[in-house]
Amino acid sequence: MVGGVAPIVVQSMTNTDTADVAATVVQIAELAQAGSELVRITVNNEAAAAAVPLIRDRLAARNFTVPLIGDFHFNGHRLLTQYPACAEALEKYRINPGNVGRGKKKDEQFAAIIEIACRQEKPVRIGVNWGSLDQALAARLMDENAGLAQPQTATEVMYEAMIRSALDSAQQAEEIGLRHDKIILSVKMSGVQDLIAVYRKLAMRCDYPLHLGLTEAGMGSKGIVASTAALAVLLQEGIGDTIRVSLTPEPGGSRTQEVLIAQEILQSLELRSFTPAVTACPGCGRTSSDYFQRLARQIQDYLREQMPVWRSRYPGVEDLKVAVMGCVVNGPGESKQANIGISLPGTGEIPVAPVYVDGEKTVTLKGETIAAEFQHIVAAYVARRYG
Ligand code: SF4
Repeated sequence: MVGGVAPIVVQSMTNTDTADVAATVVQIAELAQAGSELVRITVNNEAAAAAVPLIRDRLAARNFTVPLIGDFHFNGHRLLTQYPACAEALEKYRINPGNVGRGKKKDEQFAAIIEIACRQEKPVRIGVNWGSLDQALAARLMDENAGLAQPQTATEVMYEAMIRSALDSAQQAEEIGLRHDKIILSVKMSGVQDLIAVYRKLAMRCDYPLHLGLTEAGMGSKGIVASTAALAVLLQEGIGDTIRVSLTPEPGGSRTQEVLIAQEILQSLELRSFTPAVTACPGCGRTSSDYFQRLARQIQDYLREQMPVWRSRYPGVEDLKVAVMGCVVNGPGESKQANIGISLPGTGEIPVAPVYVDGEKTVTLKGETIAAEFQHIVAAYVARRYG
């Protein structure tokens, strides 16, 4: 379920050639394993449309039931008509009003897709994108604006064109017969302030569920920070029902990073919990080595690796809080606030590491085996508390 009081859903998108069934199945499985709750795949040609049911079946054979969304541009009407098994295998269709068709063909092709969605009882995301905004609509609004006594800025007109493209298409879809509750909207832009402004306006003008995402967010820290800045403001205001972080992966990097970032945004805002949180201090001149950084990384990786199994075996474990601290200044205090915390020795301290469980000091670790023993304590706590 999406929208209303349902939890905000994490979505991702593959970057494999959909016609390459084996590669696409592997990547969808990775994304689902990482926690993606919806996965979008491009359906751009006949080979891709023919591959969709095979992908769905191979995933099901591996016990992956993550819903697949088909992304259609230009030829969606034809592919969905000619490949009914594809139309059936997908759980949702995403169409872009800016490129569903040109001129007189636009309404016809849009209607063909909506009619198939109605027959198949599938929801449709009407996804407007700033980079492919309906140019005829934008030009018409610009002309209308120029004739006003007090014209709006070009930016305001562009926001209005994004919103009108989404809302007019939704109205058209409903007139064709698609149920109101089968429609989800998005108006993606690549500028943080633009995205916030346009979604605020859209949210005030409709009650459709909204899919959020900063389009073309970019690579690395730039993409992560820009996406987080934009999504956090909107989510904090209660805007958004599904989210995607559109990161450009590093060459050879994993596609699953966009899933982890989306989860971390929701978890940081305390909207959902996905993985036990590790609190770690930044370190400073009181830390004589990078040992606590390595321990924090090791514990964080360990917790994340366990989650595919722990999620079903230990319900509630995603709320676990672990602290890994670098010295006595904030170490004991922060450790006592966590379910389990360890305060490593800073420069000049006795080389021992007290461990706190539910606020009480339980054991003091020392020597070469601190990391292994701490991990063991965490695992035992999880089994005891959530088992
Ligand atoms: S807890 Fe200690 S090591 Fe960590 S930042 Fe604070 S003073 Fe520095």
